[in-house]
Amino acid sequence: MASVFCVANQKGGVGKTTTAVNLAAGLARVGQRVLLVDLDPQGNATMGSGVDKRQLSPSVYQALLGIAPARQALRASPQGAYAVLGANRELAGAEVELVDEPRREHRLKDLLQELHADYDFVLVDTPPALGLLTLNALCAARGVIVPMQCEYFALEGLTDLVNTVRQVHAKLNPDLLLIGLLRVMFDPRITLQQQVSEQLRAHFGAKVFDAVIPRNVRLAEAPSYGMPGVVFDSASRGAQAYIAFAEELVRRVSAHALGSRGSPIATP
Ligand code: ADP
Ligand code: MG
Repeated sequence: MASVFCVANQKGGVGKTTTAVNLAAGLARVGQRVLLVDLDPQGNATMGSGVDKRQLSPSVYQALLGIAPARQALRASPQGAYAVLGANRELAGAEVELVDEPRREHRLKDLLQELHADYDFVLVDTPPALGLLTLNALCAARGVIVPMQCEYFALEGLTDLVNTVRQVHAKLNPDLLLIGLLRVMFDPRITLQQQVSEQLRAHFGAKVFDAVIPRNVRLAEAPSYGMPGVVFDSASRGAQAYIAFAEELVRRVSAHALGSRGSPIATP
């Protein structure tokens, strides 16, 4: 049975997709069987995995609406050595079309039932909003990974996400845990970033991953080649950091050190 993690942060441009794609490739590199689900209608995780979002039929959209079996929507990342359930613009319709459907928040969880056995990890990339698509990711997931930049307003934005995680935990998915904050696009030369990083550690303790992802241009260049940075330039600092992050996640999962079931936020 796969461990399901979603990468979420309601802000855009904070490194969700870069994290989802490179964590998928990093986990594959350390021998894990991985499925990456793109739940963002922008389809960036799909394209960044080397899968053409214009050639998906069916896509994750049809699978969520029950129009096509999920298995039919699976693609392989040509370079990434992981599977992709891809998305494109038609997924935007799901936010509205699912509203009156039964089990509207549990559609992703339900469709993953038939795929679970084939993977060690399922990662879900989410759109920059706390809508029905992100809710589906939170209902399907065991853990939430929150990429964040160490900036002044970072902590402020976190409150909404933490509250959403608490509510989903209380009402829809008692297994959900905020497993960790991942510091991304980090530049240690900037004093403010170091200060915010220390604040995060002080406030969230072990909920902050040890791995830190540096700002690294190779990670930003990779998507235009349809490759995860981890594959595009595996020696780059960004790629190495994501591989270290993948190893850290595998360690935490196998040590059952994700957190307690009592509270979604409490540290282990
Ligand atoms: P989101 O999915 O949260 O909107 P993205 O992963 O698409 O964010 O990242 C936003 C932009 O920042 C993209 O152009 C991406 O290439 C770039 N980026 C992300 N992480 C890094 C990094 N560690 N170093 C340099 N650029 C990055
Ligand atoms: Mg994105």
